Amino acid sequence: MSLLFEQPDPPSVAIVGDTRRFPVGRIFCVGRNYAAHAREMGKDPDREAPFFFTKFGSAAVPGGGAIPYPPQTSNYQYEGELVVAIGKAGMGLDQANALDIVYGYAAGLDMTRRDLQFEARDKGRPWDIGKNFAWSAPVGRIRPVAGHGHAMAGAIRLSVNGEIKQAANLSDLLWSCAELISHLSNFERLLPGDLIYTGTPAGVGAVRTGDLIEVTIEGLEPLSVTIGGPEPRSV
Ligand code: MN
Repeated sequence: MSLLFEQPDPPSVAIVGDTRRFPVGRIFCVGRNYAAHAREMGKDPDREAPFFFTKFGSAAVPGGGAIPYPPQTSNYQYEGELVVAIGKAGMGLDQANALDIVYGYAAGLDMTRRDLQFEARDKGRPWDIGKNFAWSAPVGRIRPVAGHGHAMAGAIRLSVNGEIKQAANLSDLLWSCAELISHLSNFERLLPGDLIYTGTPAGVGAVRTGDLIEVTIEGLEPLSVTIGGPEPRSV
């Protein structure tokens, strides 16, 4: 078979204790999964069913590093999140067996053009242009479940230029990883390579060119991202 043009390899994420890499397929993100963050977004955290949005796999930024300031926004925000890496296919899973398909966990950033997200939200339009864009999904090294266990509790923190902006505990998740996977798997067959961003705690805010964002989750590899300038225009 001959293809019209070549496609780049999928992004892939380094794994703790393994020379192989985790190939990123799809990216699912959970909205409003910490009560205090739901309130700061002007919503009532009433345990409504979890809801999801998506990003292209190509939006992943494995290992963090420098990312450009995206176009068409003046309110570019961080969201520090626990990321679940799926290692097996699964559909219609119960909570009791949902975690069986998890390969591992990582620290991640759901970078957001908040002004565009809110404009879309307020007009009843899709969130894509505010959420799903190049460089919008940094993800740190993945810690496998094998030999390390699941990430059930532990501190999650995000700092900008050394100042703590978000601080919570994974046990504060309104919907646990097992609940999220079970719920999502009723709508879509989950596949190896899928990443699930599990939502952000309170304290989201804007960043500028030159800022250093650091996400730490107890027991996982830290993730660091620096905000660069805008990407140059090109053909
Ligand atoms: Mn998020």
